[in-house]
Amino acid sequence: MTQSDTNADKTDSSTLADELKRQAAALGFELAGIAPAAAPDSLAHLEIWLDRGFSGRMEYIPRRREAYAHPGSVLESVRSVVMLAAHYNSGTDEGATDDSAGDLPGDTAAAAPRIARYARSSADYHDVLKTRLKQLANWLHEQRPGCRTRGVVDTAPLLERDFARRAGLGWFGKNTMLINKRRGSWFFLAALLTDVELPADAPHETAHCGTCTRCLDACPTDAFPEPHVLDARRCISYLTIELRGEPIPEDLRPGVGQWLFGCDVCQDVCPWNRKAPQTTDPQWTPVLAQAPETIAETLQLDESDFRKRYRKHPIWRIGRDGLIRNACIVAGNLGDKRFVPDLTRLLEDDSPLVRGAAAWALGRLGGEPARQSLAARSENEDDPSAAHEIATALSRLSSGDRSSGPASPVSSKTGNAPCRS
Ligand code: SF4
Ligand code: SF4
Repeated sequence: MTQSDTNADKTDSSTLADELKRQAAALGFELAGIAPAAAPDSLAHLEIWLDRGFSGRMEYIPRRREAYAHPGSVLESVRSVVMLAAHYNSGTDEGATDDSAGDLPGDTAAAAPRIARYARSSADYHDVLKTRLKQLANWLHEQRPGCRTRGVVDTAPLLERDFARRAGLGWFGKNTMLINKRRGSWFFLAALLTDVELPADAPHETAHCGTCTRCLDACPTDAFPEPHVLDARRCISYLTIELRGEPIPEDLRPGVGQWLFGCDVCQDVCPWNRKAPQTTDPQWTPVLAQAPETIAETLQLDESDFRKRYRKHPIWRIGRDGLIRNACIVAGNLGDKRFVPDLTRLLEDDSPLVRGAAAWALGRLGGEPARQSLAARSENEDDPSAAHEIATALSRLSSGDRSSGPASPVSSKTGNAPCRS
């Protein structure tokens, strides 16, 4: 191959990369960049994070530990990783009664539960982004017949944020999110891996958090042991979404505050999000008809209601029992005794997970009707975990203690959104 052939190839691939980014923008990816298919820079960080146990019950992460070492485990012949970001900022947290979390006082039976912004539209972002990636891949196949591609949204062992930084999209904030100077951090990341050699963009080498620690200070459950490190086991996003089929640890329940699904606090407080543009993409428009209107309404959902309402919604992932578990925790935190009848009914629920959470909430709300409901249920509860919750709630009520129990490490200080390494 002559020098002029090489130069022509470079021009071709550079033109192709530019056009690919234009196609990505037309498909709703506001940011696009290209990273080389190399070992991720933050692999060592992942190893340490896993060794410290911070991934909690997300067993799929350590199980695929080795696969994270190179994008070749996602697409064997990969040469380029096209990183894409779709901005989903739908506006302020209109559902909250209070910006703080933790113990929430007052007349809150009608309060709308808090749902992470990324989950307020009717669509599951995985489905939307996969469709767009497919369209982008189809376009690339037309330009380079026979090429290989693979689209990734969360599902493959790929450190997306790492490649996004390498592709120049932003830096890692102390809250572990990828932050872009113009667009903040309210975006989904997706990747298109290909064996087409594309010119890599310059990595984002600078960081712009400075002396700020707002996200670290604001986290309701003290989930950051240090800047840039998230202990997912303490994160409300993990607790309300990823922790399936088991109770939320008791000492963390007060910190969950009013969050029913996910948490946005460490993004809400970030100065880089103050001027983040709002999305105009109809796919990310909040759909109020689908969002739970009140905690009281959520506590009344049965399996059939849940199926009708959430089948195509991100909340579907956690199932009806997970949603009701979370709603019980929020009800207990809201401190409104008008929840007692619904919680009493839930003490008879088929799910021991729900019965246990309802018991905890009744113990938090207190009062004679709550105590009587718990005492009556304690007579015939046969699930050990639910029985333990009932006994603990009763013992608190008799001692006059309605706190979370053991000395809580939860702060009294006042959420890209899924749990992340
Ligand atoms: Fe803390 Fe919420 Fe951020 Fe999780 S999402 S680290 S709980 S502020
Ligand atoms: Fe960085 Fe401050 Fe934003 Fe945290 S809140 S990510 S420290 S700029």
